[in-house]
Amino acid sequence: MTLNFPLTANPQPRSDAERAAILANPGFGSNFTDHMAVATWTADQGWHEAGIVPYGPFSLDPASAVLHYAQEIFEGLKAYHHADGSVWLFRPERNAARFHRSAVRLALPPLPEEDFLASIEALVAADRAWVPTLEEQSLYLRPFMFASEVFLGVRPAARVTYSCIASPAGAYFSSGVKPVKIWVSTSYTRAAPGGTGAAKCGGNYAASLIAQAEAAENGCEQVVFADAAEHTWLEELGGMNVYLVTADDQLLTPELSGTILEGVTRESILILAKDHGLTPVERKISLAEVLEGVGSGAIKEVFACGTAAVITPIAELKDADGSHRVGIGEAGEVTAAIRSALLDIQYGRAEDTHNWLRRV
Ligand code: PMP
Repeated sequence: MTLNFPLTANPQPRSDAERAAILANPGFGSNFTDHMAVATWTADQGWHEAGIVPYGPFSLDPASAVLHYAQEIFEGLKAYHHADGSVWLFRPERNAARFHRSAVRLALPPLPEEDFLASIEALVAADRAWVPTLEEQSLYLRPFMFASEVFLGVRPAARVTYSCIASPAGAYFSSGVKPVKIWVSTSYTRAAPGGTGAAKCGGNYAASLIAQAEAAENGCEQVVFADAAEHTWLEELGGMNVYLVTADDQLLTPELSGTILEGVTRESILILAKDHGLTPVERKISLAEVLEGVGSGAIKEVFACGTAAVITPIAELKDADGSHRVGIGEAGEVTAAIRSALLDIQYGRAEDTHNWLRRV
């Protein structure tokens, strides 16, 4: 059955002045639009009660399963305003497919991909006035699903809540692209074989926070994880995938091993690489190879990628043994070119040759 997400009969838009004040300085993740999408799943009725309702708190019983066993998943994607006033999503089908895979892994009822897309399109249509129009701004969309059954038994919940909220997002790097320092964590890991690393579930992020704190204590903005079994192989950052640019023009990224998230940006860059004369390579990459490579110059650029910041240049890798500067410690040429190519497609400044945009 296909769900409809009708707009509430009682919409509650904030005033134009209030919205304008927020859009003048949206920041990231702390301001939300007027509405949200909701749907409920129960074991007897399947998905139902879908709609676009005024944004507001959920009422949760203290025994709601999610609060105890973290049966929860989420997604992150953006809506972009183009110069002609149209609004577009970037490859939302990939997020729909990943949400489906995450649901299966967390024993949650998968939301049919067409319903996921319908919920997002209905929300963006209702809150279209909230899509920021300034340079590199966007409307960040956060679909999520959690076990809302009131029950303390450990088993998949028989009642689940789906929702999507939207948050206007400012330019990630307000004063130009800023390269970051990365802490190479070997004391903490993010995901083990057979675990939930390839799913976008809240627990993965809870588990990464202590490593992120360790990174900050070591003067780094982000953390990169090694594999859990051997502590040898490069995996990904807490919330971004990682790429290396070699001196012989390969664009290298760790292969999908089941313990890293299959990023939509990662996949798009693999495809874009060829447009830029680079050879995309997915394989196992050891931390030793990375550190040696940045030392010798065999690896000339390193960057992280994800929906929120698009591409973040990495200027330095730091571990217990010391610092390893990448290239000249500034955003490299290839990093900058790939970043512009992606942004130009997302903001409608370049032809969408790969058919990645979907109009709302
Ligand atoms: N890895 C992790 C752990 C993430 O949370 C994200 C953000 N979703 C990514 C990679 C990048 O994925 P995407 O390009 O789809 O945003």
